[in-house]
Amino acid sequence: MQQAAEYCGLQVNRKGLCLCPFHHDTNPSLKIYPNGKGFYCFTCGAGGDQVKFMALYRGVSNYEAAKELAEAFGVPVRVPSTYREKREAALRQRRRQEEANFASQAKKILTDYRGLLCMAVRERNGHFFEGLGELTYVEYLLDCLEQCPGDVYADKKAVRRIGEIERRTAGWD
Ligand SMILES: [Zn+2]
Repeated sequence: MQQAAEYCGLQVNRKGLCLCPFHHDTNPSLKIYPNGKGFYCFTCGAGGDQVKFMALYRGVSNYEAAKELAEAFGVPVRVPSTYREKREAALRQRRRQEEANFASQAKKILTDYRGLLCMAVRERNGHFFEGLGELTYVEYLLDCLEQCPGDVYADKKAVRRIGEIERRTAGWD
């Protein structure tokens, strides 16, 4: 209860009293009870538990208030989940995993290719023009992978191109 009050910016003194935010209070008259026993204002009569406090303070429903407190204090909220929701969550999880695998693989391929291209430009070898032409694009793809790997993974053209680059570097001479 005290944490919730302090979260709302109220200062609770040693006696567990603070200025009541529910009436014009100049002398602390809102009592915070320890061990989850809630609050009570001796002047205006407002009282209840921390959820009620938050709801009154924000002017929202108990549900909204409980949600805000849970988020603020990192309390996990158990939401009833249907079979379908569980399945969708599992699919999202799998997709995130696929994305992560793809991104790390793609980064490796592109970094290798970038190294080869840089060398080609530096040494003006047979791959010189390929280096000039492709470096910007490779840099761009690496940037995208850093910022939003999901978008690259969803872009069929980019995925195909990365596949081609992998074969290209494998047959590099
Ligand atoms: Zn009051």
